[in-house]
Amino acid sequence: MNIHEYQAKELLADFGVGIPAGFPALTVEEAVAAAKKLPGPLFVVKAQIHAGGRGKGKFKELGADAKGGVRLAKSVDDVEADAKDMLGNTLVTVQTGDAGKEVNRLYVTDGVDIAEEYYLALLVDRASGQVAMVVSTEGGMDIEDVAHNTPEKITTITIDPAQGFMPHHGRAVAYALKLDGDLNKQAQKVARQLYDAFMALDGEMLEINPLVETKDGKLLVLDTKMSFDGNALYRHPKVEALRDETEEDPAEVEASKHDLAYIKLDGNIGCMVNGAGLAMATMDIIKLNGAFPANFLDVGGGASKEKVTAAFKIILSDPAVEGILVNIFGGIMKCDIIADGIVAAAKDVNLDVPLVVRLEGTNVEKGKEILDNSGLPIVSASDLGDAAKKIVQQVKKAA
Ligand code: GDP
Ligand code: MG
Repeated sequence: MNIHEYQAKELLADFGVGIPAGFPALTVEEAVAAAKKLPGPLFVVKAQIHAGGRGKGKFKELGADAKGGVRLAKSVDDVEADAKDMLGNTLVTVQTGDAGKEVNRLYVTDGVDIAEEYYLALLVDRASGQVAMVVSTEGGMDIEDVAHNTPEKITTITIDPAQGFMPHHGRAVAYALKLDGDLNKQAQKVARQLYDAFMALDGEMLEINPLVETKDGKLLVLDTKMSFDGNALYRHPKVEALRDETEEDPAEVEASKHDLAYIKLDGNIGCMVNGAGLAMATMDIIKLNGAFPANFLDVGGGASKEKVTAAFKIILSDPAVEGILVNIFGGIMKCDIIADGIVAAAKDVNLDVPLVVRLEGTNVEKGKEILDNSGLPIVSASDLGDAAKKIVQQVKKAA
């Protein structure tokens, strides 16, 4: 799960991390009120969306010369003008895709006099089973380009979570950032604070870009992105409450309400499968037959008729779907329940794309009977290969 920059900064501040003062704002009035609470004379108005690259982003509704989603403002009036410009408009950045994201929240912060911009990120390194701290003197810009063009400017420090953050880890971070004296000490301290926050909150990724050195010699977190392990959210109600569903794919939000594992993909064949392994195999075999899956969807082991109906509707809510393949192995799950769900959902949504169903396992005969007697144009398949071939043929025929 991702959260907004201002939320991440508030969480980090609890661990002692230095951040510029600032307030979130949902309206122009709130943005003006936020600016009035700050010392000035420099303010920063920042679009809050779950995507980076905002500074270089462009608003769809504004001209090509208009400023991006992170703006320096020299007066409260400028803050007001920028807030009016941004709220309700769509920001397109390298990370949002062409559709962009509508800006509904702003963060108005104290403007900082920057001397240097650094990069620091924490992530779970699954290969080593450790926490990786990635550090670079080249902050502020696209770290992917730095990694590609000048990999020697990136240092990775791994921390064994069983051992925890040791003083030498902090020294390695400060050394990688080429900092001396008091700044060196600050870097060691902030590295430890960030590690503590990351571990305590079950972080998945914590990226600070940039971590800045101010002209008066302080290290501050100027921008941050943070994401969390969804499976650990139950341990952090405070973090869970920060979820902004308007930033997430609506179909994925709906799926999570029904406890369905759904991930939207780019193809045109919707898949409803039980079990992650079978779902992966189904996607592979669709590709083998020359088409692409529109989604990954695992209805789970013991799905009810309601759950199957919800899954069916979610698949069909994707306008790219031109055909559906249902592939169910009824082990714990019974084929007749699946069939009931399919029929109910298909009738409910006025199914207008081809549907191929392959059922196998418990109560399979009963299930097939339900499908055959439904009066719906359902094509049944005998095995996985047959099912994939049939749905690809059907979609081509319909096109
Ligand atoms: P991003 O574009 O989404 O990564 O947003 P950032 O918060 O990282 O802002 C982009 C850039 O704007 C930063 O790298 C800075 O160069 C600049 N910036 C942001 N805040 C300030 C500030 O307080 N003072 C100054 N001088 N520049 C800032
Ligand atoms: Mg940034």
